[in-house]
Amino acid sequence: MTDLKLFNSLTRRIEHFEPVHPGEARVYTCGPTVYNYPHIGNMRAYVFADVLGRVLTWKGFKLTHVINITDVGHLTDDADAGEDKMEKMAAERAQSIWDVARHYTEAYWADVKALNIRQPAHWSVATDYIEDMLDFAKSIAPQHCYELESGLYFDVSTVEDYGRLARAVTEEGEGRIESVEGKRNAADFAIWRKTPAGEKRQMEWDSPWGRGAPGWHLECSVMGEKLLGFPFDIHTGGIDHREIHHPNEIAQNQAFCGCGGLSEATNSGARFWMHNNFLVERSGKMSKSSGEFLRLQLLIDKGYHPLAYRLMCLQAHYRSELEFSWEGLQAATTRLKRMVMAVEAVRAKIEHVPATPRGGWTQPEARAAAGGTLLHLIGKFDDAIADDLATPEALTLLDEVLGVKKVDADNKAGAIAAMDSVLGLGLFDLTRADLRIRPKAATITEEAIEAVIARRKEARAAKDFATSDALRDELAAQGVEVMDGDPLGWEWKL
Ligand code: AMP
Ligand code: ZN
Repeated sequence: MTDLKLFNSLTRRIEHFEPVHPGEARVYTCGPTVYNYPHIGNMRAYVFADVLGRVLTWKGFKLTHVINITDVGHLTDDADAGEDKMEKMAAERAQSIWDVARHYTEAYWADVKALNIRQPAHWSVATDYIEDMLDFAKSIAPQHCYELESGLYFDVSTVEDYGRLARAVTEEGEGRIESVEGKRNAADFAIWRKTPAGEKRQMEWDSPWGRGAPGWHLECSVMGEKLLGFPFDIHTGGIDHREIHHPNEIAQNQAFCGCGGLSEATNSGARFWMHNNFLVERSGKMSKSSGEFLRLQLLIDKGYHPLAYRLMCLQAHYRSELEFSWEGLQAATTRLKRMVMAVEAVRAKIEHVPATPRGGWTQPEARAAAGGTLLHLIGKFDDAIADDLATPEALTLLDEVLGVKKVDADNKAGAIAAMDSVLGLGLFDLTRADLRIRPKAATITEEAIEAVIARRKEARAAKDFATSDALRDELAAQGVEVMDGDPLGWEWKL
């Protein structure tokens, strides 16, 4: 079995994964700020964290995964500038923050489910941890914080190696952080933000530093420590968090533990810090301030299956930028269809779909299920995912297994199910019909299309090509393209 190697953003090196607690893996993922729907770029971050968790399971570690829900404290700018995202949206919608948070948390969970992202052990909601945040802040305040009129601030000069994760404590980097009057260092950040005199906020609590709300970075330090204990194994997030949010979390963790410098990775609170690169889109549709931004639901409304988007994510390495395009999504859909067709062919030859072992497939179980002929492909698959989660290569190996001819069908099904337990495409649950592109805006029903197609077949059988062509045109007028001789066996598409 190949050792698991992962890229650690803190050291900028690929390192062997050694768990803090033998046999276990404890992972914390920065979750969504629930002031709006997540865009598909945000969801890339959770697909990545999900694959990481699945690989840890495959490698035999007992996984404890925490994903938080940020419902307080995140300002419109990651540095200490702008308004609270939740307060702003609630005011715009004339709703309570709690209602806004509930609505968008549920929308996020729907995307999580649609993308086959496994449920973490804990969804930790920031506002459930206010007391713990106050305790944490009180414990670090005397040595590391100072009070200004606007709140309690963390003095970044009180910890060693501040900003090492970002590698960007440059004049320019500092200049981007809007200064609050009286800050000792430009990078100092709010631990507690006081409600300005005369104002009343929807979300505010009493504290030794006045009524107000926690700074955004505090919650992740606190929930990570409470639920996983310092140091835990892996902390994940999108690459933007490498610049401000995670360096600040690390500084808080160092302060809390009384730890020294970051040459010792565990002093940061976690052994590994891992970051997914961005999903980008040229026309700016990723921005939540643009009218129709790229939500998973938009892809679904245009007729695509959400797992085609998951496949699109897996086709790129998580540390590479991925450009979204509709053509790319179409290509992923076609690839997924081919996979599903191959699985349907295997399924026709076996009595039972391979049962998922409790807790998910591990590598030894995969080897046992795959049997002799496919063992070398399971081995190569293991090499790929152990090499910093090389999902593009892992997918190619799955394609190879799908294409193998002379092999026992149960072994083949076992190998597919095991590999898919890491990739999470749910290949045994999908059917070709699920993947047919059907835009929501299309008004013609599937039954109506099938009825016309049947009449057209009869006309063709009777060599009545005039009728056959007329029926084809009739469908075309309603947005249905007839696909004679399609290699994937599709007779029509919308
Ligand atoms: P937010 O809800 O803004 O806190 O973001 C949720 C997660 O999505 C964070 O881990 C971000 O780093 C990540 N993220 C934001 N934009 C993108 C993007 N375009 N591509 C990939 N990840 C992103
Ligand atoms: Zn966080």
